[in-house]
Amino acid sequence: MMPENKYPLLSQELDLGFTTLKNRIIMGSMHTGLEEEKGGFDRLAAFYAARAKGGVGLIVTGGIAPNIRGWVMPFAAKMTKKSEARKHQKVTQAVHDEGGKILMQILHTGRYAYHPLAVAPSKLKAPISPFTPRALSKRGIHKTIKDYAKSAVLAQSAGYDGVEIMGSEGYLINQFLVTRTNKRTDDWGGDYKHRMKFAVDIVAATRKATGDKFIIMYRLSMLDLVENGSSWDEVVALAKAVEKAGATIINTGIGWHEARIPTIATMVPRGAFVPITQKMKGEVFIPLVTTNRINTPDVIESILESGSADMISMARPFLADPDFVNKATQGKEDAINTCIGCNQACLDHVFLKKSVSCLVNPLACLESKVSLKKTTTPKKIAVIGSGPAGCSFAITAAECGHGVTLFEARDHIGGQFNLASNVPGKEEFTETLRYFKHQIKEHEVDLKLNHIVTENELKSENFDEIVIATGIEPRIPSIPGIDHEKVVTYMELLNGSKEVGKTVAIIGAGGIGFDVATYLAHNGKKIGLDKNEFYKEWGIDIHATHRGGLIKPEITPSDHTIFLLQRKTEKHGKRLGKTTGWIHRSTLKHKNVNLISGVSYDKIDDKGLHISKDDKTQVIDVDNVILCAGQNSVRDLYDALKDSDINIHIIGGADKALEVDAKRAINQAVNLAMSL
Ligand code: NAP
Ligand code: SF4
Repeated sequence: MMPENKYPLLSQELDLGFTTLKNRIIMGSMHTGLEEEKGGFDRLAAFYAARAKGGVGLIVTGGIAPNIRGWVMPFAAKMTKKSEARKHQKVTQAVHDEGGKILMQILHTGRYAYHPLAVAPSKLKAPISPFTPRALSKRGIHKTIKDYAKSAVLAQSAGYDGVEIMGSEGYLINQFLVTRTNKRTDDWGGDYKHRMKFAVDIVAATRKATGDKFIIMYRLSMLDLVENGSSWDEVVALAKAVEKAGATIINTGIGWHEARIPTIATMVPRGAFVPITQKMKGEVFIPLVTTNRINTPDVIESILESGSADMISMARPFLADPDFVNKATQGKEDAINTCIGCNQACLDHVFLKKSVSCLVNPLACLESKVSLKKTTTPKKIAVIGSGPAGCSFAITAAECGHGVTLFEARDHIGGQFNLASNVPGKEEFTETLRYFKHQIKEHEVDLKLNHIVTENELKSENFDEIVIATGIEPRIPSIPGIDHEKVVTYMELLNGSKEVGKTVAIIGAGGIGFDVATYLAHNGKKIGLDKNEFYKEWGIDIHATHRGGLIKPEITPSDHTIFLLQRKTEKHGKRLGKTTGWIHRSTLKHKNVNLISGVSYDKIDDKGLHISKDDKTQVIDVDNVILCAGQNSVRDLYDALKDSDINIHIIGGADKALEVDAKRAINQAVNLAMSL
């Protein structure tokens, strides 16, 4: 018997008149880096086909430029001629073969282009690009509109079911809409009627060129989150005009890339931007899509139930789990590998010009290269340690058909992920723990909790392979007075075994030093679950009564006075993730955390922490000193066994503690499991 479908609204078809979408879920546009890679279209085809097979109703590709001036970077993907369209046929065919539908996103970057050919409505450099754009001539504007329409026609010839016209996130179309970036005095600037003409003419030209049986989704910037952005009346006027010009669906865009407000990072509460789509309901008659930080079927169903939107778009959750939709509709929601919004292997990779992957699913974007296969020679495998590395290995090996015993000394699995989930804004880590638990049960991993396994026990059980995933322990730096009662490790603080006083010094400003500072600065509150606190802290006018959706931030002061120290002289947080580091830095700035670099630690005593900086000594009078000075591997068991004749492997932090990170640990674990 099929299990009950708990998500009937998510599963509902959407009739667009000339075509029907099989459910309410869109896989949103996401640049994968495969578009520009040699042989990338084969990989893209397999990537999208896996998501179509996994049940998603509609897929949108990463942004494809309508001409070279619109490139994201030199030689980025574009759709300007038949030979380019032919390459896309593989993608559309693969998706259609799996019963899916797919749109090509047309993206012109305007002044965000990372190359010297950049154009924009006016010659104004973006704060996030080194290139000053050339102002488009009137002829250039007409040509660009034609290029959009031509791109759409080529996409149609390649088999796409439609296009998404990217009108948000601060790209070219958005740049025409607001006086911040449009200083023109001709027909394309001045009052709003003229500023929105570019967007509306693009939709009209695209509709005219592609006929009436082609989906045109327009991504409309509903909340710009920048100074001198659009007013709500302007947003509504544009939505109505775009509908009239022939759009089939309107998607929601949130925040320009130059906005200094987080819009998709993990500390953004789930569904935080849904109210703005809801506000648009009733203004237009075509379906509306809502988006940003939506990652579970429960949240999707409740949004649809509230009538805030007709469809939901998610991008990263489909990197984490291609089968999201099928799992939800088949009553297997606990088996969904949930996107935790970390950006570490997806968006951070885009900025590093590496192809995209996923921290919780390292096989994302490798669909054409590797797949989980059942082994023909099942082995008896012991895994010691159930942190992210141990769990990922155990689950993958069991899925491949091996018999796996997972030993854990504590009464719960998850290792460092338990600590991470206590950090305000990192609550999503609990979803990975839920996923691990479910998969361990589902794949019949023999989990032995409260079990300190010994060398002799392992030897006597005749395991074919032993995998050591015993993780790390905090590094204790050799500072005089390190045994003082004021000293607490980050583990003791985050696992609740020790408390700290009002004034603290944090030694070490790596990822964990920042996490601890954030934890104390928010007084331990779960900010990722509190939308109002999020809007207040970042100055978001979620009801868009102010232009651009910006209001003065209201910061709840921290109960703690915090000093975050590092020996390096570089800017604090310089080595944090590209797309999230600025958020962590801003958070600490909002909360008046004292950032001190270039220090050396002299001693700790009753007076506090004694430091030297620039040849001067000083005492920071603190109640506690918290150690966030990195980690050391725990490898006693490995050292005891490594010279025996057992097949032994070591993974995760136990293998390499230096800048231990979950992305590397999970990737290493999954690859090892697939190789045995
Ligand atoms: P980390 O990034 O290696 O930072 C530890 C810091 O402690 C170093 O930057 C170092 O800075 C300082 N330190 C090292 N040895 C010391 C010593 N003997 N005495 C005093 N200070 C010392 O390690 P982490 O903060 O524990 O984070 C581990 C990993 O977790 C990170 O690499 C990251 O991948 C991941 N993580 C990331 C995030 C994020 O991106 N938001 C959050 C949490 C964890 P100085 O030498 O300059 O003092
Ligand atoms: Fe989500 Fe992180 Fe995976 Fe990106 S890397 S898809 S943010 S879990």
